Amino acid sequence: MAIKVGLVSLGCEKNLVDSERMLHKLRAHGYELVTEFGESDVAVVNTCGFIQSAKEEAIETILEIAKLKEEGRVKKLILTGCLTERYKEEAAAEFPEADAVIGIGDNKDIVDILDKVLHGERIVRFSPKMDVELSGERILSTLPFFSYLKISEGCSNCCTYCAIPMIRGKYRSTPMEQLLDEANWMAENGVTELNIIAQDTTRYGEDLYGENKLCELLHKLCQIEKLRWIRVLYCYPERITDELIETIANEPKIVKYLDMPIQHCNDDILKRMNRPSTKAKLYEVIRKLRTAMPDIVLRTTLITGFPGETEEQFEELCKFTQDIMFTRLGCFAYSQEDGTKAGAFPDQLDDEVKQHRADVIMEQQMHISYDYNMRQLDTVKTAVVEGFDKWAECYFGRTAADAPDIDGKVFFSSERKLAVGEYVTIRINDMLDYDLLGEVIEDESAE
Ligand code: SF4
Repeated sequence: MAIKVGLVSLGCEKNLVDSERMLHKLRAHGYELVTEFGESDVAVVNTCGFIQSAKEEAIETILEIAKLKEEGRVKKLILTGCLTERYKEEAAAEFPEADAVIGIGDNKDIVDILDKVLHGERIVRFSPKMDVELSGERILSTLPFFSYLKISEGCSNCCTYCAIPMIRGKYRSTPMEQLLDEANWMAENGVTELNIIAQDTTRYGEDLYGENKLCELLHKLCQIEKLRWIRVLYCYPERITDELIETIANEPKIVKYLDMPIQHCNDDILKRMNRPSTKAKLYEVIRKLRTAMPDIVLRTTLITGFPGETEEQFEELCKFTQDIMFTRLGCFAYSQEDGTKAGAFPDQLDDEVKQHRADVIMEQQMHISYDYNMRQLDTVKTAVVEGFDKWAECYFGRTAADAPDIDGKVFFSSERKLAVGEYVTIRINDMLDYDLLGEVIEDESAE
């Protein structure tokens, strides 16, 4: 009887891609993959560990499964991912219940490690993080029509508040031919929406080819016939070139959506974050984007309460986001992380102040999102079907303006039965704070 393995993937989509590669290896080696831990022999936890809240979620998940192990419902527990990579031996000591505690450089050997664990060994191993596989076969765990293409590993930007470079290592681009093979394989297996991800997608190729190759990669991805939507996430503002703006504007398959985390707008704060942006440069790149694509959907991420952030600097951030009116925005209270430069800065703020400022920004953003949704009323859009909501008795899905898992949805009625992954034309006739409502119309002239 096949040994049942359950895997939980915490954190970001980049970690999810790592999980999908481990799932493929496990199944290829004859392990049966299950989705419920209560019925698995082996539990693998691919942890996240870059900020306090993520670490707490990982620890909670591990302790939950350790309890199942105590009850004999799970026999073996394997821990990997950013939390174990960051804390290594400390993590191994912290979780004696775990039969294996490994680093991200060991994910490629998950089968060998599981074999040893099943023979009663306890494995504590942290291979060089540079050993992380940059590509590989996957079992797609998202809805069948969309997925992620992770184009590189690590980060070399070294923002002072960020633990990722010390966890994932310096920036390594995946060779383009491997990415195109992976994208073709996904397209041949039903993926029509491809989300391009990395810690910094806009640095692609510079390490490997000595020049930026993101635009070339995007043009080649657009030639994959079965792909319909290509979305670029995690763009570093300073690396958004005129060529990239043109590429996004002129390639019909690339959705007019850009995720561009800016973190702040005050020049002094940006400098202390070790981000080469300035407020003037941010205004300029956003002006260029909106000149080339007036309806572009701009998403960003902000940090409030960075050490030393004054009330005036915070007011400046509020005024900047009110002025720019990002379509989508996420805001995090600064997390003081051990091992980071900013973590040792003297002028740390109280958690309440940090969180209050994040709440103020999100309150402001709710109104901006509402106004944006108001402007969508009575427009006709293309949406991809994600499912049927039995409670609301209607279908739900996303338009090109909605990235998976982080943005809103559109809920819509249809006279005919729809399939998951189908692209339909919708007239928007109502709205909520972050979501849109509509009905399917049989008319191809959608946005
Ligand atoms: S760009 Fe900055 S915040 Fe993003 S992963 Fe790299 S170091 Fe961290």
